[in-house]
Amino acid sequence: MNYSPKQHLLRQNVIVLWFNFQEVGRCWTRGLFWCMMCVGFAYASKQGLADTFWKEIGVIPAIIVSAVAVVVLAAIVVARRRARDARRDKLMRAPFPDDWKVHIEKNIPLYNHLPDDLKEQLCGLVNVFCAEKTFKGCQDLEMTDEIRVTIAAQACMLLLNRKTKFFKKLKTIYVYPHTYVAKQTSYDGVMVIEGRSVRLGESWQNGPVVLAWDSVMGGARNIHDGRNVVMHEFSHQLDQEDGAADGAPILDSRSSYITWAGVLSAEYEALCTKTREHRRSAMNKYGATNPAEFFAVITEAFFEKPKQMQRKHPELYDELKSYYKVDPIEWVQPGSRRPKL
Ligand SMILES: [Zn+2]
Repeated sequence: MNYSPKQHLLRQNVIVLWFNFQEVGRCWTRGLFWCMMCVGFAYASKQGLADTFWKEIGVIPAIIVSAVAVVVLAAIVVARRRARDARRDKLMRAPFPDDWKVHIEKNIPLYNHLPDDLKEQLCGLVNVFCAEKTFKGCQDLEMTDEIRVTIAAQACMLLLNRKTKFFKKLKTIYVYPHTYVAKQTSYDGVMVIEGRSVRLGESWQNGPVVLAWDSVMGGARNIHDGRNVVMHEFSHQLDQEDGAADGAPILDSRSSYITWAGVLSAEYEALCTKTREHRRSAMNKYGATNPAEFFAVITEAFFEKPKQMQRKHPELYDELKSYYKVDPIEWVQPGSRRPKL
């Protein structure tokens, strides 16, 4: 079981340190790295590789050159980050193509339940997503705007109202026309078992998302079954942002990890018990596979079966509401059992 509060507090401390290091000091650490490289090169030179050169240049000029290199590198990094943020702001406010909106309204009934402000925000997020990510069709699937936008809009539902890095590790989404067969390696003691499994989608820790287009459409059109392969795979991407696929994405504060660990531990154990005893559950029993799959499964249920989840698992619902910064119950209007097309 991986939801130990102690473990998450420890990991969260490491995460805070690491992210502070990255966010505040990334440019300086890169500069420091290059500075150390320069000093190391100079030292090696002094040891005989370029003795004459060292004597002529001297220590002080070498330090000055290194310092200048640090400042230049820092300036480049800051400038690139500002340019990226400005580009994203512009895309968030850019007009949304009419044909893209038609695809979303037709293919994603959940979009039609969103309040107007969230619809507008989602369109901006889709603009950024489609500009930054590459889509590739597999098995001769011709990539179209409909495929791109339908996937992007569902993925970006997970980003609404949140300070987001737009799935920063993700560069490419591969799309198969139908469910596909992938090689699978499993272990039984010292035995390595090679096999094949049929897949709807998958998310790689430091790489792409792979999706089957027919499953994408099936998941999008039924908004009450708690199954959505795009939300499932992209919740894995959120989970993996801190480097570990363990069902604990990056949360807002240290205290959040304590309640997250407590609530999700209990709910995960309960689902595992129900699965072992073949009892019914509001959640897909695939979530009992491990904490990472549990987070993906409850994300699907949160967006597609919010009332049921809130009624049967109120604490879990509140944790996800706090994380995702939306309340899907507000979107579900009375009598809206059938998707609006
Ligand atoms: Zn999964």
